[in-house]
Amino acid sequence: MADPSTLTLDADVLVLGGGPAGTWAAIAAAEAGAKVVLADKGYVGTSGATAPSNTGAWYLPPDPGRREAVIAQRWPGTLGLADRGWMERVMELSWRRIDQLADSGYPFPVDETGRPYRANLRGPDYMRFMRQLVGKAGVRILDHAPGLELLLDGDGRVAGAAGAAGRRRNSGEIWRVHSGAVVIATGGCAFLSRALGCNVLTGDGLLMAAEAGADLSGMEFSSVYGLAPLGSAVTKGLPFFWASFTHEDGTPVETQGDRAGTVAGALVQGRPVYAVLDRADEALRGWLRKSQPNCFLPFDRAGIDPFTQRFPVNLRLEGTVRGTGGIRLTGEDCATLVPGLYAAGDAATREDIGGANTGAGGPNASWAIATGALAGQGAAGFARGTAGRDRRRFAAGTAGLRPGGREASGFAPDEVVRATQAEVLPLDRNYYRSGAGLDASLAVLDGLWREVRDRAPRPGGDPIRAREAAAMIATARWMYASARLRTETRGISKRTDRPGTDAALAHRIHSGGLDAVWARPAASWGASA
Ligand SMILES: Cc1cc2nc3c(=O)[nH]c(=O)nc-3n(C[C@H](O)[C@H](O)[C@H](O)COP(=O)(O)OP(=O)(O)OC[C@H]3O[C@@H](n4cnc5c(N)ncnc54)[C@H](O)[C@@H]3O)c2cc1C
Repeated sequence: MADPSTLTLDADVLVLGGGPAGTWAAIAAAEAGAKVVLADKGYVGTSGATAPSNTGAWYLPPDPGRREAVIAQRWPGTLGLADRGWMERVMELSWRRIDQLADSGYPFPVDETGRPYRANLRGPDYMRFMRQLVGKAGVRILDHAPGLELLLDGDGRVAGAAGAAGRRRNSGEIWRVHSGAVVIATGGCAFLSRALGCNVLTGDGLLMAAEAGADLSGMEFSSVYGLAPLGSAVTKGLPFFWASFTHEDGTPVETQGDRAGTVAGALVQGRPVYAVLDRADEALRGWLRKSQPNCFLPFDRAGIDPFTQRFPVNLRLEGTVRGTGGIRLTGEDCATLVPGLYAAGDAATREDIGGANTGAGGPNASWAIATGALAGQGAAGFARGTAGRDRRRFAAGTAGLRPGGREASGFAPDEVVRATQAEVLPLDRNYYRSGAGLDASLAVLDGLWREVRDRAPRPGGDPIRAREAAAMIATARWMYASARLRTETRGISKRTDRPGTDAALAHRIHSGGLDAVWARPAASWGASA
């Protein structure tokens, strides 16, 4: 008989992560006839990067001229690393699925003429509605149930996952789901930087996938920082379109590329930066307050009028959440190198639509919708092919879960997290990279990896944090190993020692490995490379 603190379930498809990508994956798998379980680290509907935010999305009816115009506008910024076929596919699927939301009764706002406006999804409403749709589709939801490791069968196929259960992070309860396929939709990795909605996004899915044998791509495109009022978590960039930036003495900050670049240039010299949203006219001010209410909370709390009074600003790392890198997809069904394992949303590399740049402002949200739906369908199809097989299952988890060495003393997860953050959060390490800096950080991160690989977490601590620490170290090592190989500046991968773009490097970089991390140029970089 199973241990009473273990919940064991059978399913065709297990989805890990219940943000937009995971909920769309669960719905699509259920539509395809699969029995689906969805497990989330937090509460489905309030967890992840979309839930506390507003996300613009690609909502383009099938008018080839309009779609082509959007692609043409985005294309130069992808710097040779995107795939037009994927962009078209994501636009089409995003449009269809957003209309499905409307058909299911989602209350889209209407403009002054009474026309519904569907290109913006208000996070809390959207994700609450997705939870309802998932429930109606018959999916079993496990809240507060972080996946910790994948289960593999004797042939190396993914056969489920196991994780922790219970509201208390050290409750000792566990769950196991035996499934025919798994979709990883655990979001990106923002290294617990306190950016909006990112407190649960620690790269867990990337580590689980790599342990099972998957590889990654585009991990060097991971250094997106979000602008926020100093001390605030609200990294929503839209209001800053209308900002003027000044130094402490009131002189303008020299423009360097985009807004984040301008602010980073001053902050890295130790010079505080102030902003005021004085470029917004009266009409815009009203519209901004109405459409982005969460952006104004920090100001209202501090009693500041951001349109007339200046306020200090900061940059918070959003890593691969609004960056690009992630698990490599091997086909249009969002499969990975590992049979039975699918990836979607921020957990998957988004180079196909973003190339060397962030897909912020619409593409990212649509990527989550489209790849979620494709991965769900793909996983359901794979699971059908495995029905009826008797499968032995092996747990694939390593660092942070079960010590690989015989070290007697344990490690303290919070200390390891802080040491990892010291290598990835500072602007002069990650926003502005150099070969020497990357080498130095990699040496520290390799040491941290050995620590979590060989030792058990100290007793009495938070076992989930131990696994998160391992995932953050692994993610940082793939990021920097890839950045080491990109000996140029391309999009969001900036090298101070290599400021120019090198035409010979107009290819993707794949990476992977656990104890020995590797990165290498993609032989060819199409979606099925
Ligand atoms: C401040 C901000 C503003 C943004 N604005 C825009 C925008 O305007 N337009 C746009 O296109 N994009 C925007 N983005 C990006 C967009 O939010 C993401 O691309 C999108 O949320 C990705 O969806 P996802 O489902 O992959 O990940 P998420 O929404 O982050 O969901 C991931 C889920 O996985 C769960 N999870 C994590 N680890 C585990 C685990 N081990 N086991 C189980 N579950 C786990 C989390 O709890 C979470 O629920 C913004 C991002 C931020 C941070």
